[in-house]
Amino acid sequence: MSIQIILEKCTGCTLCVKACPFDAIRIMDKSEDSGLASFRTEGHGLPSVRQSHSQSHKSEDSGLASSSQSHKKAVIDLNKCNLCGACVPACKLKAILLEKPEVVTGAKPDLKAHKGVWVFAEQKKGKVQSVVYELLGKARELAASLGTDVSAVLLGEHLEEEIQELIWRGADKVYVVERRELANFQDEPYTNILVGLIKKYKPEIVLCGATSIGRSLISRVAVKLRVGLTADCTGLDIDLERKILLQTRPAFGGNIMATIISPNYRPQMATVRHKVFPETISDMKRKGKIIRENFDVPFLASRSKLLDIVDEIESTVNLAEADIIVSGGRGMAGPENFKILEELAKVLGAAVGASRAAVDSGWMPYSHQVGQTGRTVSPKIYIACGISGQIQHLVGMQSSKIIVAINKDPDAPIFKVATYGIVADLFEIIPVLTKKFKEVLKK
Ligand SMILES: Cc1cc2nc3c(=O)[nH]c(=O)nc-3n(C[C@H](O)[C@H](O)[C@H](O)COP(=O)(O)OP(=O)(O)OC[C@H]3O[C@@H](n4cnc5c(N)ncnc54)[C@H](O)[C@@H]3O)c2cc1C
Repeated sequence: MSIQIILEKCTGCTLCVKACPFDAIRIMDKSEDSGLASFRTEGHGLPSVRQSHSQSHKSEDSGLASSSQSHKKAVIDLNKCNLCGACVPACKLKAILLEKPEVVTGAKPDLKAHKGVWVFAEQKKGKVQSVVYELLGKARELAASLGTDVSAVLLGEHLEEEIQELIWRGADKVYVVERRELANFQDEPYTNILVGLIKKYKPEIVLCGATSIGRSLISRVAVKLRVGLTADCTGLDIDLERKILLQTRPAFGGNIMATIISPNYRPQMATVRHKVFPETISDMKRKGKIIRENFDVPFLASRSKLLDIVDEIESTVNLAEADIIVSGGRGMAGPENFKILEELAKVLGAAVGASRAAVDSGWMPYSHQVGQTGRTVSPKIYIACGISGQIQHLVGMQSSKIIVAINKDPDAPIFKVATYGIVADLFEIIPVLTKKFKEVLKK
């Protein structure tokens, strides 16, 4: 892929600068050639980006000298550009050329042959993970809009109780493959079997948790089936007219929410992070069908070997499971000040979270980061201290039931999503809150 600025056409009007979501375009004076060169870094492994000097400088220069053509030209910083193409339609003079290779896709399927919404039922040590119950709830809504049914796919060993629970939680059918070799997740066997099941039963939608396992598995499945995949969706819906899945997720660094569709291929596949949707409640009256499948040994072949599974040791309350989270941002002003958050968290039995600014400053480990590139959380109470509320943070916590924001800036965007806002200096208010909660909770 490559992108070109055609200098002969560019007038330095700045429309492309405004359109670029990555701040990758600058307008530079044509005479500052040394500056231009500094943007033309090569060999970083990314697709190539080049500024076109296609005609000789001479002819350009003479044009510039003899006409009213601008000396100002757009220059693309290829360290920032990700070739999204947002600048191309913004340029009224057609001075930006984006060349993309032809995308190779699979043969177009018979869309009508695909029916049903599937959820991959991730299990660990024989226990279905809670994200699956969150997806089943959403799958039921989608299936109701499409007038179809919901199925879960469960691979593993000794799964009897879990199969029943999947039905109680919303699955009309459960496809089960039980074998000793499938007791623990392994990329290749799981991929082969899920692909085999999808080819045989032809679902129209496949949903999967955006967990470490889900991300590893479903991307392989999408490649093998040559279909699209939308990762980390924060919203799923049905376009009732076209009967297609609307997959919403943050895009361009979280600056916009993009709704993505896969109208021509099936299944439509999406991953969703833990805690984005609420779990369905178990209804023991629900009935469902269990479909057991066998797969031959070639399907179980794996080039990697599982040696051991080591449990993560959590020294504090697990962020993803916590009912209360106290989070700190750049306003904490240093690592030592997180102590006052930890004291408040201890009194409340809460976990401590952090914004990326706090994590990037080295004040908190990455495992505590909440947001688009951190964890998605949905606690009963989220207390944001010294966090401004940028979209990339909000996408990770805005589904919390109660949001309390403490910020000294009354115009901080966090107050737009907050249930309760405290405009105050956090260093004054947090110790007071800790003291008060301690008194009240003692009673
Ligand atoms: C691709 C991408 C992914 C990203 N992913 C994430 C992510 O996962 N999570 C994330 O958090 N960010 C993420 N970011 C960064 C995000 O855009 C913001 O830069 C970040 O969230 C800002 O953190 P902050 O609110 O702590 O800092 P700031 O925006 O600097 O806000 C600090 C706030 O503290 C307040 N304050 C200062 N002193 C006090 C005081 N004494 N008392 C009370 N209030 C005070 C200020 O008024 C201010 O509102 C991402 C950005 C990009 C581009």
